[in-house]
Amino acid sequence: MKPQLESIAHKPTLPPEHITVLGGGQLGSMLCEAAKRMGYRTFCVSSHETDPARRWADHHLIADPGEPATAARVARQSAVVTVEAESIDPAALEAAANASCRVAPSAEVQRTVRDRRLEKLFLRDHGLAVGPFAIAESPKQMNEAAETLLAGGAKKIVAKTARGGYDGKGQRWLHSIEESADVWEALGSTPLVLEAGIDFVAEASVIVARSADGRMTHFPVFQNEHRRGILFQTRMPGDFPPATVAKAIQLGRGTAEALGVVGLLAVEMFILPDGDVFINELAARPHNSGHVTLRAASRSQFEMHIAAICGLPLPEIHIVQPGVMTNLLGDLWAHGEPDFAKVLADGRGMIHLYGKSPRPGRKMGHMIHTAATLAEAVQAANAAFALLQNA
Ligand code: ATP
Ligand code: MG
Repeated sequence: MKPQLESIAHKPTLPPEHITVLGGGQLGSMLCEAAKRMGYRTFCVSSHETDPARRWADHHLIADPGEPATAARVARQSAVVTVEAESIDPAALEAAANASCRVAPSAEVQRTVRDRRLEKLFLRDHGLAVGPFAIAESPKQMNEAAETLLAGGAKKIVAKTARGGYDGKGQRWLHSIEESADVWEALGSTPLVLEAGIDFVAEASVIVARSADGRMTHFPVFQNEHRRGILFQTRMPGDFPPATVAKAIQLGRGTAEALGVVGLLAVEMFILPDGDVFINELAARPHNSGHVTLRAASRSQFEMHIAAICGLPLPEIHIVQPGVMTNLLGDLWAHGEPDFAKVLADGRGMIHLYGKSPRPGRKMGHMIHTAATLAEAVQAANAAFALLQNA
């Protein structure tokens, strides 16, 4: 018999207990890797035999990770159940919780972060800075939403599907109201959130780890560069004035607290010309920008997620060396395997591949460069990327 949830809520889950990760992409894979290094055993539920997590999970169950009956079944053999993606149905987390398992994030948090409508309303209702937006659930509402945003001073508008978008997918920029019917159709005639285009000077993210008893710790503010809607590079620490850093951290921690999240919360942000900060979106899981912590921080984001969901201490994070993470997209595989020998030759970087088959735009892996100064790390990262691109 497993103890009842109330009695285990604040007791740490210690190795070698079992942790289940729902979803088996690279985030699930790196979660399993961290958990395994920390002495835990791992189950991973994912749809395909070839998913990245197959390489690190102790037990890889091939099934729909959002299916409640499956989640309940693995929960009965696990101490903790977590997720690697917003796409996982909250019903699966509910089923796991009903099996008296620790579940983080909760079904309620998952419900909020997987729907842009609920996420934006949550932020606005809690006074957390977010840019102008409007919800559209029909072509008529879309016209009204666009008109409202334009009347409010928006110079351009981006329409995003309420659910299922990632890496810039499920988004279209709207240049005039006349385009709205076409965009509605192009995005699949499905509920949307329309946002005013923000003229940011930089993008940032703050990752907070929070435990069930409310303890929190955060990573330094990262600076993110996107190309064609996909994260290209993350720098740690970001090059921001102290007041902006303080604002970003306050917003990140405030959001984690308001949400009551357990585990990691990644808060993507826009930095405005006047130093003000708006939240772009949330992820209640490890985040691509946090990969830099694998080398550049005293704890990786994956270790901190496991620590937070298991109720272990959450140490303060310090920077080991300034670092740069550069994503490796499938485009680099256009002429076969990239020339990694060249990139590794100077000994300044590490390459981490996820074991996926290449497709243009697909995240295949990343590089991390660390150095005594951020400028040196950036220089090394960009030199390495240029070598791969020109190979
Ligand atoms: P992710 O891969 O982070 O899940 P996503 O597909 O959910 O991405 P967003 O984070 O909403 O997409 O947008 C991707 C990028 O597009 C942002 O990081 C930013 O560069 C740009 N972008 C999105 N919304 C806006 C906006 N309102 N104003 C200006 N740029 C935007
Ligand atoms: Mg994003």
